Amino acid sequence: MNYHIDTGLIYEKFLENACCPLCAIKSIVEEQVIHEFLNDAVMEDNTHIEVVKKGFCAHHFDMMFNRPNKLSLAIQARSNLPTVESLLAPAKNKGGAKKLADKIDGAINECIVCDYVEKSMVKYYKTIAQMFLYEKEFYKYLIKCKGFCMEHYAQLLRYSGYASIGTKDYLKTLSDTQKRAFSLLDNNLETFCRKHDYRNANMPLGSAENALPDTRDIFYGKKND
Ligand SMILES: [Zn+2]
Ligand SMILES: [Zn+2]
Repeated sequence: MNYHIDTGLIYEKFLENACCPLCAIKSIVEEQVIHEFLNDAVMEDNTHIEVVKKGFCAHHFDMMFNRPNKLSLAIQARSNLPTVESLLAPAKNKGGAKKLADKIDGAINECIVCDYVEKSMVKYYKTIAQMFLYEKEFYKYLIKCKGFCMEHYAQLLRYSGYASIGTKDYLKTLSDTQKRAFSLLDNNLETFCRKHDYRNANMPLGSAENALPDTRDIFYGKKND
């Protein structure tokens, strides 16, 4: 079977058994892309053209700013400046102003790093679906996993067709895994709330201690700084 991507990292992150394995993969992919943009990629013509057109979103600008190569970020920010600056000419009327406002919203949220990361992640979504069909042991990893953030759960659903004749089973397994994660989350949130009653002050929290950070991770995904 020819997978879209090497399966080693997928097994590794599922084995770590934290929510969400795809956020963990994404943070590695994101780090690689950021590294390329702060080093070699900036020299390539094609990449330069895309930086000029799209620039970076706030999240990836911040990530790059937090890495050592500030000169590279400054050069790329300067490359993108004329594209944004071209939207500063005065609009002729109310309608034109609204259109211009939409264009500005679009321009400021476009991001070449997001595009590259998403392109790689799609290969992971497809490969995971294929692994469910072709790798006998993989479903055990899926069943044991602590669930996915909702964005990545949605992406796995979106590319579930790559499990081919196994799609129906794959969807059921994904749903069961996610429901288990929500049930644990609900229990932990309930314990967390009960602990705030003074009569339960000495009650041990156990895994409920992380109920709120866990809720954040499953609703919105892990933050990568
Ligand atoms: Zn995730
Ligand atoms: Zn971005």
